Amino acid sequence: MQLKSIEIIGFKSFADKTLIKFPGGMTGIVGPNGSGKSNIAESIRWVMGEQSAKNLRGSRMPDVIFSGSADRRSLGMASVTLTLDNSDHFIKTPFDELKLSRKLFRNGDSSYYLNEKQCRLKDITDLFMDTGIGQGSLSIISQGNVEQIFNSKPEERRSIIENVAGVYKYKQHKSTAQKE
Ligand code: ATP
Ligand code: MG
Repeated sequence: MQLKSIEIIGFKSFADKTLIKFPGGMTGIVGPNGSGKSNIAESIRWVMGEQSAKNLRGSRMPDVIFSGSADRRSLGMASVTLTLDNSDHFIKTPFDELKLSRKLFRNGDSSYYLNEKQCRLKDITDLFMDTGIGQGSLSIISQGNVEQIFNSKPEERRSIIENVAGVYKYKQHKSTAQKE
C-alpha cells in the first residue's frame, strides 16, 4: 500500500486546488515556518476521519476551511482526496486503487466518498482498522506529540512502543482471556 497523491482544495492555507504527488521512496516536504507543511499532514489525518477539531489545531471543524487572507476572500468548502495504491491489497478490499475524499461546508454539512461514491465515516474507519494507519495511530506524529512522547513517564513510553510494535493488541487479548 502506498500513498500516491493528495488533492487539497480550500483546506486551511490551501485556497487553490493543490495536487501533491508521492512518487515512491521517501518524500520530504520542506518550507519556511507557516508555509503549510503541518497543514498537509493534517489534511491526511482529516480525510482518514479525524473527528477532533482540537487535534487539527482548531476549535470547531469548519476552522479547517480556508478563512481568507489579506488579498483573498474566505471559501465555503474544504475538500481533500487521498489516492492510495492498494495493488498489494494491504487494505482488505478488492480495489487496486483507493480514492478517499472528505468534504465539509461552512454550515457543517459533511460527506465522505470512497472511489467517488458517497459513503459513511464508518466505511472509511473500517478500511483502516487493524492496519496501524487509522485514526489515533502513530503513523502521523505531530509537533506537539513529539514533546509529549519525550516528556511521558517510562510506563507510558513503553506502551507507545508496544503499540507501534504490535504487541499491545496481544496484551489486550491476554488480559481479556485471564478475566474469562
Ligand atoms: P512550521 O515550520 O512553523 O511548523 P508549517 O509549514 O508547518 O510551519 P502550518 O502550521 O502548516 O505551517 O501552516 C500555518 C499557516 O496556515 C498559518 O499561516 C495559518 O494562518 C494558516 N492557516 C491555518 N488554518 C487556516 C485557515 N483555515 N485558513 C487560512 N489559513 C490557515
Ligand atoms: Mg509545522
